[in-house]
Amino acid sequence: MNIPFYLKTDDALPWSGNDVFHLMSRDGLFLCRENRFFRATTPARNWPEDLQGHAPSIKLRFPKIPRLLVEKAVGFFDRVGRKYGAEAMMLLTWGEEVGYELVVPPQVTEVDVRPGLSPLPIKLDYEMPTLPLGRLLIGDIHSHVNLPAYTSKMDQDDAEHSPGLHMVVGRLFAPGEPPDFEIVVTVDGHSFCIEQHDTIIEGYKQRRLDVPVEWLEQVRVLEVPENVIYPIVSPANGTPPNGDESTREKGGAVV
Ligand SMILES: [Zn+2]
Repeated sequence: MNIPFYLKTDDALPWSGNDVFHLMSRDGLFLCRENRFFRATTPARNWPEDLQGHAPSIKLRFPKIPRLLVEKAVGFFDRVGRKYGAEAMMLLTWGEEVGYELVVPPQVTEVDVRPGLSPLPIKLDYEMPTLPLGRLLIGDIHSHVNLPAYTSKMDQDDAEHSPGLHMVVGRLFAPGEPPDFEIVVTVDGHSFCIEQHDTIIEGYKQRRLDVPVEWLEQVRVLEVPENVIYPIVSPANGTPPNGDESTREKGGAVV
């Protein structure tokens, strides 16, 4: 190091004998300087030049999510979306013996219904179920019904507190298959957008509408009155702002 570098691991750390040095503390990096007129520590404007650059990265080791599960998830979102215009969500769990499983928690999904307009998904709350021993919560999947699959501001806020895999399914009723997918993996509050979907999902051909009736029974739909106004969240990427929606109050994947 051209400039000496110290870690402040002790509050009583003595002043180093150097005229100038870097000090890394809980409050950031400081530049410390001493001469005959003063002794000062100031927030460092630059990192030490000796350090090499670094960037966030992730190397995925998820086993691929079986095609059947993805097709069933889309089938479930189709059933709820087609009937009510409402979004829905499900949890993705992992057990060493059983692999991936989908769990539909009890949920309340709100739609704004106005005459002459398509129902608009507004908000979703769900209850985190107790998972059987040995079953790990890996992530969640939710739908945006007819809106594009993107990470809304609300999704982003949720993901920050929910490490794991987050999938969004959108444009459910656009002609043909597949619908829109967005896949994000969040680690320690940082989200990585996974562009290559086939690194996470095994594949997708067609939604399966024959979903368990118990899944549908978990969904309660609330049609909100016309005069209730909800804040509309605009996604940063310029996607139409009239959509999202979810407030997952008790969510949180634990990987
Ligand atoms: Zn969303």
